[in-house]
Amino acid sequence: MTSLKWKLLAWLLPASLLLLLAGAATAYSIALHTASHAYDRVLLDTAADISDQVQSDGGVLRLDLSPAMQKILLNDQYDHFYYRVSAPDGRFIGGYEELPLGAEMPSMEGVFYETSYRGENLRAVGLVTHRVGAELRIVVAETLVKRDSLIREIWLGILVPELSILLLTWVLLLFAVRHGLAPLAILTRELSFRSPLDLSKVEETHAPDEVQPLVREINQLLERLDASQQSQRAFISNAAHQIRTPIAALQAHVELALRQTDGEKLTENLKLILAAVKRTAHVSNQILSLARSEQTNASMEEFRKLDLHVIAEEVGEIWIASAIEKEIDLGFELEHAEIIGSPMLLHELLSNLVHNAILYTPSGGRITVRVRREAIRVVLEVEDNGIGISAEVQHRIFERFFRPETSLEGGCGLGLSIVKEIANLHKATVKVLTPAFGSGSIFTVEFAGLL
Ligand code: ADP
Repeated sequence: MTSLKWKLLAWLLPASLLLLLAGAATAYSIALHTASHAYDRVLLDTAADISDQVQSDGGVLRLDLSPAMQKILLNDQYDHFYYRVSAPDGRFIGGYEELPLGAEMPSMEGVFYETSYRGENLRAVGLVTHRVGAELRIVVAETLVKRDSLIREIWLGILVPELSILLLTWVLLLFAVRHGLAPLAILTRELSFRSPLDLSKVEETHAPDEVQPLVREINQLLERLDASQQSQRAFISNAAHQIRTPIAALQAHVELALRQTDGEKLTENLKLILAAVKRTAHVSNQILSLARSEQTNASMEEFRKLDLHVIAEEVGEIWIASAIEKEIDLGFELEHAEIIGSPMLLHELLSNLVHNAILYTPSGGRITVRVRREAIRVVLEVEDNGIGISAEVQHRIFERFFRPETSLEGGCGLGLSIVKEIANLHKATVKVLTPAFGSGSIFTVEFAGLL
C-alpha cells in the first residue's frame, strides 16, 4: 500500500472506531450500573416492606400481606415477584418456600444475587431484619423483563448516536485527508500537464511546509536540466557553425577545380581540397569525440586498473615522429602510478595535450611529459616552453570552442574540452599554469591514486 491517503485512513478509521467503541462501552456500563442500582434499591425496599408485614401471634411468627402489598407484588405490569420469609434457624414463615437462597449469607444491608426459579431467571436480594423481637431472613426476587428492556433501551440510546458520530467522523476524516493531500495532487497535475520544453520553476509558496523541500529539489533539478539544455543547444549551434565553414570552403575549392584547365593549378586546388577535407574530418572527429565522452559514464566504458606510465609511453611513441620533425625535444619523466581508468579515453586525453604542446611550441623547444605519485594522488603533467597561454584567458581555455587570439589555423577549440570531459569521467581535476621560469604552459591532471 503506497498511497499516502490510504495509509493515513488505514490508521485513522480503525482508531476512530476503537475510540468510539470504548466510549460506547464506558457509557453503557455506567448507565447500566446506575439503572440496575435503582431497580435494586426498589427490590431492597420491597424486602423491607415485606418484613413489616410479619406479625407475632403469641410467639408464632406469621406473614400477613396487606392488600396494598399484595397488589404491588402480584400485579406488577411487567415482572413476577417471588418472596420468602424465614427464621434464622431456617424455619419457613411465608412466601415461596422453594425460592433459592443466595450463596452469601443475607445481611442487614441486603445481598444481591442472580438465581432462577420456576424456569425464570431472577434478580434477588437477601435481607436480615429484626421484627417483633425476632430476626427475620427475607428473600425477594423479580424476573428480568424491566431490566432487559432497560438494557435494550440503553443500547439503542447509545449505539444509534455513536454510530451516527462514527459515520460523520469517517466522512470528516476522508474529507480532511483529501483536503490535506490536495497540494500534492495539484503539484502532480502541474508537472504532468507540462510540455517537455517547459523547465520553468514550480510555484513553491503554495506548497505546505512538508512538501516545500521536495518542490525545492524539483526546482533545482529543473534548473540543472535547463542549464544543460542551454549548453547542449549552444554546443549544437557552435558545432554546426564549425562544420559548415570548412564544408563551404570545400565546396568553393571543388567548384574552382572543376573549372580549372591548367594541370598545375588543378593540383594546387586539389591540395586545398585535401586541406579542407582534413579540417572537416578533424572538426567532426573532435565533435563526435566530445559527444561520446559526455555520453559515457564510468560503468559504460571499460574502466580498469592501469599504469599511467604505460599510457604515457604509448602516446609518446605516436607523437615522437612529429616532435622530431619539428625539432622539438620530447622528454619523459615517468614513475609507475596506478589508477582506475579507461585506457582508450586516457590515450585521447594525453594525445590532445601532447599534440597541442607540439603545435604551440616553436622549433628547438622542449616538451616534458611527467607521471608522478604525490601522497594519495597521481599527477599527469605536460609542460612545454612554447608560446604559452596568457593569464587572462587561462580560466576559459577549457571552454568548448574557445580559441584565444594566439590560436593557429586548423583547430576548432574542442581539444581541451575533451581533455576536461575525460578528466571529469575519471573524477580527476585539470588545470593550466604558466611555468615559474620562462615561457610556455603546464597542463596538470590530478587523479586519485590507488592506495
Ligand atoms: P584547438 O587546438 O582545436 O584550437 P584546444 O581546445 O585543444 O582546441 O585548444 C584551445 C586553444 O588553447 C588553442 O587554440 C590554443 O590557442 C590554446 N592552447 C592549447 N594548448 C596550448 C599550449 N600547450 N600552448 C599554448 N596554447 C595552447
